[in-house]
Amino acid sequence: MISKFRLIYHIEGIVQGVGFRPFVYTLALRFHLKGFVLNNSKGVIIEIEGFEESLDSFEQALFKELPPLARIDFWQKNRLTCKNDTRFEIRQSDEASTKSSLVLPDMSICDDCLKELYDPNNRRYHYFFINCTHCGPRYSIIKTVPYDRPYTSMQPFVMCEACQSEYTNPLDRRYHAQPISCPTCGPTLSLCSINGELLATNEAAIVKLADLINVGHIVALKGMGGFHLICDATSDRVLASLRERKHRPSKPFAVMFKTIEAIKEECILSAQEEEGICSLLRPIVLVKRNVKASKISGLIAPRIDRLGVFLPYTPLHVMLFEYLKNPIVATSANRSGEPIISEATVLKQKLHDVVEYYLDYNREIVNSSDDSVLQYLGDKTLLMRSSRGIAPKSFRVDSSDERKILAVGAHQKNAIAIYLNHQIIVSPYIGDLDNIASNELFEKMIERFSRFYDFTPDLIVGDLHPNYVSTQWAKRQNIPFVQVQHHYAHILSAMCEHKLSGKVLGIAWDGTGYGDDGTIWGGEFLVCDPSGYERVCFFEPFPLLGADASIKEIKRILASLLWDVLGDEADALLLDYFDEKALKRLKQIYTKKINSPLCSSVGRLFDAVAVLCGMEGNVSYDGESGLLIEALYDPAITDRYTFEIDDKMIRYKPMFAQMLHDKEPRLIASKFINTLVEMALTISHRYTYPIVLGGGVFQNRTLMEQILQNVTQPLYFPLQLAINDGGICVGQIYKSLQK
Ligand SMILES: [Zn+2]
Ligand SMILES: [Zn+2]
Repeated sequence: MISKFRLIYHIEGIVQGVGFRPFVYTLALRFHLKGFVLNNSKGVIIEIEGFEESLDSFEQALFKELPPLARIDFWQKNRLTCKNDTRFEIRQSDEASTKSSLVLPDMSICDDCLKELYDPNNRRYHYFFINCTHCGPRYSIIKTVPYDRPYTSMQPFVMCEACQSEYTNPLDRRYHAQPISCPTCGPTLSLCSINGELLATNEAAIVKLADLINVGHIVALKGMGGFHLICDATSDRVLASLRERKHRPSKPFAVMFKTIEAIKEECILSAQEEEGICSLLRPIVLVKRNVKASKISGLIAPRIDRLGVFLPYTPLHVMLFEYLKNPIVATSANRSGEPIISEATVLKQKLHDVVEYYLDYNREIVNSSDDSVLQYLGDKTLLMRSSRGIAPKSFRVDSSDERKILAVGAHQKNAIAIYLNHQIIVSPYIGDLDNIASNELFEKMIERFSRFYDFTPDLIVGDLHPNYVSTQWAKRQNIPFVQVQHHYAHILSAMCEHKLSGKVLGIAWDGTGYGDDGTIWGGEFLVCDPSGYERVCFFEPFPLLGADASIKEIKRILASLLWDVLGDEADALLLDYFDEKALKRLKQIYTKKINSPLCSSVGRLFDAVAVLCGMEGNVSYDGESGLLIEALYDPAITDRYTFEIDDKMIRYKPMFAQMLHDKEPRLIASKFINTLVEMALTISHRYTYPIVLGGGVFQNRTLMEQILQNVTQPLYFPLQLAINDGGICVGQIYKSLQK
């Protein structure tokens, strides 16, 4: 006789709010099984009963056919005695489940919704807010948990009967899709001039907006996580005007294209890049430009050979492209350095001199986010900004620590992270904490995460730098506070992601971070594990003349290095870069060591090299020097500069005198990169430990490719976390976890 069994499954991971219960329900019906599924505080519980063979098939399908956004991190099953249920049902969640389910990122439109958007027989034909359980907004609309419609900014929109019946039908793709709506019951669009005059609504507003873009206006469009500034990407005249109005002389803009084919006309894509661009995450991907064929304006990304490209990711963007002639610039609407603007009132106040028209809708963006930015190294991702589609990002860590921990990150590209229930959850990109608006967002983000996860930290962990806004905030909280050295945290971040707990050789190269000795670090080799680190080697420090003044006026760095190598002889050479008076003043600062902290940063060396390669004036955005040097790199040049390693110090300064001889920017840039690679390899060969890379300098793809090709040990770097300071919060948590 064939006997029946009853099993109970405990499943954890991303299993709530992603259509997991209806998925289980559908499988149970398919295999004629009885029982129930419900959400609990840890995830999902399934009790299921039937014949053994059917149960086996059920389990296989459970793992194989997961809904697109679901992820199982942990599961176990046990046998129970049969209860002879007569049906399978989705049961109401218990109350305790509510505060622990993960808040998920916003997702781009799925293929099913895209089909319906263009199906004239569908009731959501051309409906610009079409979504389902597998796509659409989440993070941007949630006010508090549980993730139920009354606690989202969809609350004011009462579902019509048709939507209601989809919402309550477990077999419908929109079962419990909180942002469900349709043309009858959903939010509406309005196109206004920046003075507030209403010009059109709904689909007519999209058509009119496209017309305005086509004839060269600069507009704003409320997307998923905030407003985009948008204009035609092919017009030099419009781009020049945008740069002037934004006071943004050279920082590259991302370009949104209608289709992947349109991107391929402008750029050279690898298979991985194509896949990444088309993925549900729809990030901005930095790719190689096909400069010869380009109809994209040269003002989009001056002097560099990369272009940040992406595809439309909301139905609104998709529909806009139906009426556009050309690809568009689509960049976060903000005042320089500030967070993205998500309310029309703020847009009108802060960007009235930039934007002429804006497309708004009457659903509030509760939590703003930017577009995520990444690039590919072969099949590996190098994440530069973790936000829409990716963050909030959660992952499990092996730790028995029962405390709740908050990591406040660093200063630039700040993001925070929390640890609870064996999980680390990383916030979206917040920004550089050097203006009031960003600092407000930093505090708001902490408050938001506390609300989402009913979270009060037992411990706060932050950077060693005493003057960081994040450090100072942490010190005011009257909660135990631990500080972790910046570059050590960079390495720990990658170690945490790759579950490394033994000794590694960490190579942490970035712009600046506060060192143990009170000087500025940024060219560090650390032998470390989660219990501590030893600084085994570093770049010979040089004085950063006028401290932050050197970071803006980068030729000061060149002056400092040349005076270190050549002494007074450098004066005559430096007159190519400074007028006599300015040089004399700077020399005084150098000689008297006025406000000139010592610095071992590799990021700053890139700045000095960029000056020698012809970069004039000030750096207008972080990473500009690196991108310029990358664009100049010539793989045919295999030469490098000489350096010495004496005890723990890399002595490299004479190379700047040699660069003056070389003159040719292509030669200087290529030899410089080759030299850095050789330095990394030389130190690596001294150890047998795995190598871990971290820090913003490694956003340089050429440098990374060279190191990856030549290192002989296992090599790790963050793939899921930002390799720049955005990933530091995770390293801070990893340091403070009790094993
Ligand atoms: Zn969908
Ligand atoms: Zn409806």
